[in-house]
Formats: sequence, structure tokens, C-alpha cells
Amino acid sequence: MTPERLDSLLQRALETGTIPSDATPEERAELVPVLGAAGSLRLNAAQVDSEASASMPTARARFQRHIEKLVAEHLKEVAEDIDRRVRRMPSPKVIIVSSEETRAELEDVLPASSKSAVVGWTTAEAHASANELLELTSPILDEARAKEETELLERWREGAGRGERAASGWAETLEAASDARVEALLYEDGADHEAWQCPACGRLSASGGRCPLDGTETEQRDDGLDLAVHQTVAHGGTVWAVTAHSDLGPAEGVGALLRY
Ligand SMILES: [Zn+2]
Repeated sequence: MTPERLDSLLQRALETGTIPSDATPEERAELVPVLGAAGSLRLNAAQVDSEASASMPTARARFQRHIEKLVAEHLKEVAEDIDRRVRRMPSPKVIIVSSEETRAELEDVLPASSKSAVVGWTTAEAHASANELLELTSPILDEARAKEETELLERWREGAGRGERAASGWAETLEAASDARVEALLYEDGADHEAWQCPACGRLSASGGRCPLDGTETEQRDDGLDLAVHQTVAHGGTVWAVTAHSDLGPAEGVGALLRY
């Protein structure tokens, strides 16, 4: 029994599935354990193969979970970044550009402080340029600004009508700004007026004479708006240039929402 003879018998046995009939009992005795091993080899291979194909979905699912975890982490970072910026701004307006799917997930992790600053959501091509994003978001921002302006002027009209928490015209507005009462200074684009300022305490008024607080002679200035803006901002108020409404016209182009 040469190795070649055994190989040939083995080959035929593997092809046919049975030990060739011309094999001697001695050869048969050699072949049986080899074929058994081959069988278990084939069985192992089949098992490995079936495990591999069974584990494909498992691997894919694991990969999918990994991706989802990365996306969730990324969205959390984005949300935190938005919130950090929002908290630094006095009255921020946020427009978020994302896919519809991302929007739902991002809304879930966006802190309330930032959620209230969001004035719009929109979608864009994945690699949209800064200019394209600006074109896309500008109308949303304009609309949000117009809405806010409408609300501010409604509050101002109501307040002025009742004679509370609203200043109309330069005299009232300059005085309120000096008293730290202005919550929001409203002015029409281009509005300005002369004003008198006390050199001692900085108090503003629309007419000259002595400062009512310290008796110092006030000085005439021609930049009443700048002075009013200064006083307003210095006392934590905000300033709003009215561009889409003409309500301030009868009030010399200036007014204010007051804290009290
Ligand atoms: Zn003074």
C-alpha cells in the first residue's frame, strides 16, 4: 500500500461518499479514520460557515449599535455646543439645519434654554456652503425678527395706552433710561434728538436746566439716541431698531418698554 494508492482511494471515497470496493481490508482500515476525520472536518466547516452567517446579523447589529452610539454622542455634543453659545448671547435666535431624522433626536437632547431660542429648523444638502446656509436661514431669521418686533410693539402700544410700563417720545424715554427703568429701548431707524446730560451723574433729559438730582447745570448734546442706548445697555436693557413697523412715528420715533 503506497501513499499514492491510499491518496487515490481517499480521493475516490471523498468523491463518491463510500470506500471503493477494490480497497483491501487493510486499506479500508486505513481509510475509515481518515474519512471520519474528513467528515468531521466538513462538519466543522459547515458549522463555522453557519455560525458565520448566523453571526453576520449579530455583527451588523453590533456595528449599527456602535454607529447609533456615535451619532447620539455627536448630537449630545452639538446640543451642548449650541447651549454654550446660546447662554453667552443676550437674546439669541437659533436656526438648526439638519435632516428630519436628526431633528427628532436633537430635539430630545437639546436643553430647554436652547430649545426656547430655536426660531426655526430647516434642511440642506450635506455639504452646503456658508453662503447657501445663509440664504436658507435668512428668511427664517427675518420672519422671527418681524414676529418679535410685532410682539414688542404690541406690548408698547398696550402699555402706552394704559399709561404704564411704556415710555413714548424723547422726554419720557431719556428719563426712563437714566432711571434704569428701560427693559427694551425701541427706536425707528434714523431717529435721533438733542438731549441734555448732567456732567455729574450722567442723567439725561429732553430739556436743559439743572439736574433734578444734584443741581448741576446740564450740558446740551446732539446724540440723544446714543446716550439713551448707553444708559439702557448699562442698566441691562436691550435695544431694538424698529424696521418693519411705523408705530413709533407719532412718538418722535422713540419709545421704551419699562420695568416699572
Ligand atoms: Zn445729575
